Amino acid sequence: MGQRQYDVIGIGIGPFNLGLAALIDGLDDSLDAAFLDQQSEFIWHEDMLIEGSTLVSSILGDLVTPADPTNPHSFLNYLHHHDRFWEFYNYENFRIPRKEYNKYCNWVIDRLDSCQFGQRVDAVRVTESGEFLIQADSTTGTGVTEYRCDDIVLGTGSQPYVPESLRGHPDDDVFHSSGYLSQRDRCLDADTITVVGSGQSAAEIVLDLLRKQPDNEYRIDWFTRSDGFYPVDSSKLTRELRSSDYMEYFYDLPQETSEERVDQQDLLYKGIAPDTSAAIYNTLYHYSVDEDPDIGMLAKTEVESIGAGSGDTYQLQCHQWEEDERFCHESEVVILGTGYRRTIPEFLELVREHIKFAGENQFEIGENFEVETRGLDGSIFAQNRGFHEHGFNTADLSLGAYQAGTIINEILGEEVYKVGQGDRFQSFGTDQFLEQSSQSGRIEEIPLSSD
Ligand SMILES: Cc1cc2nc3c(=O)[nH]c(=O)nc-3n(C[C@H](O)[C@H](O)[C@H](O)COP(=O)(O)OP(=O)(O)OC[C@H]3O[C@@H](n4cnc5c(N)ncnc54)[C@H](O)[C@@H]3O)c2cc1C
Repeated sequence: MGQRQYDVIGIGIGPFNLGLAALIDGLDDSLDAAFLDQQSEFIWHEDMLIEGSTLVSSILGDLVTPADPTNPHSFLNYLHHHDRFWEFYNYENFRIPRKEYNKYCNWVIDRLDSCQFGQRVDAVRVTESGEFLIQADSTTGTGVTEYRCDDIVLGTGSQPYVPESLRGHPDDDVFHSSGYLSQRDRCLDADTITVVGSGQSAAEIVLDLLRKQPDNEYRIDWFTRSDGFYPVDSSKLTRELRSSDYMEYFYDLPQETSEERVDQQDLLYKGIAPDTSAAIYNTLYHYSVDEDPDIGMLAKTEVESIGAGSGDTYQLQCHQWEEDERFCHESEVVILGTGYRRTIPEFLELVREHIKFAGENQFEIGENFEVETRGLDGSIFAQNRGFHEHGFNTADLSLGAYQAGTIINEILGEEVYKVGQGDRFQSFGTDQFLEQSSQSGRIEEIPLSSD
């Protein structure tokens, strides 16, 4: 069993920890870091790399640029290395193909020495001298490696979520959207397909199935329990909320307020990208010139359970909650776009007593993305986690460099990366507004008018 000593170990190599690895690489050896991932290689949401699908965020918010535009691991440098700059220039679109984002991340990984794949972290413990000891099992059978480090950064992302009442059916027929491409041939063979959910993944799958429908002749049904097949609000003024300033403002709200707000902000991140929504509509419109498209769509409808149907089908028990009507629906294939959930990684079991939790599957997370702990010398940071503390935009790729830069500044105890510049037009909170407005002042500081 080998043993290596590091300043920082990142667990999980998704875009968030990869951005951290790239920013650490730009530091001239001030931090010795390693990043471990259980996959044999990086493939970004492999079964959702649907042809034609694009990022929903701008590639200017790549792994490093928002924290350090001079970092060599930028997307622009990737383009330059691949002789694609002018093609991108003429593409005139910051929403690059998802497949290209995957290639960009792999290019960055190939240039870094710190990323190790095929390493599944099974346990984290604390040594007598107060360091973390991380045990990783090789998924290629080369045994267990132990890594010692001062600080840990969790970047294990979120996991596909299927409600309990919809579980327990053969994966070939009833599966989560995260497995779509592996099951697409099965779908093309089916007579009836039902998609559940109205987030971006469900919408992209419906669009893909619609485009293939003329050659395969299945019926598509699409249910969502949401109020409608609504788009995510990506207008420019709303996009200002996808900023470090808004995260900082949100962090300072009282806990009850932030919990309440996060529940009310679904349309800021959970809906369908407007161009995907338009593409679905336009495809239907084109089909309808010849005949009614073979599709059913119903919102406000929860699929409450799935059981056996007639023949090869499954029977879905559905509830239109606004009318309080229940009905059955049969389908050969059911695709569950039921989202993702963050869980507490099992490998933290041995240090669990040191960690402060804010609720089920929820760490207490501080302003600088550090998990609140007790009795530890080192720190545990968590990227893409502080949903309730930092707001809906923690999962936004363009805020990854901000989170990573903040963590590096915190570990090194100085501002090596300039993050959170405050460059947006609107103010978040009264303090910010009053600071820039000579017309306004706090009531207690302004003399009351006499009438
Ligand atoms: C299909 C899809 C498209 C998306 N598109 C966008 C977009 O365009 N823009 C945007 O802003 N957001 C997007 N998101 C949301 C979010 O930004 C992504 O999910 C992003 O991949 C999250 O990155 P991450 O680094 O937190 O985790 P992940 O990408 O999920 O990576 C986590 C990694 O941790 C590893 N891991 C887990 N446990 C262990 C362990 N015990 N040991 C070792 N490794 C482990 C996993 O193998 C995995 O590789 C998208 C989400 C999905 C599902």
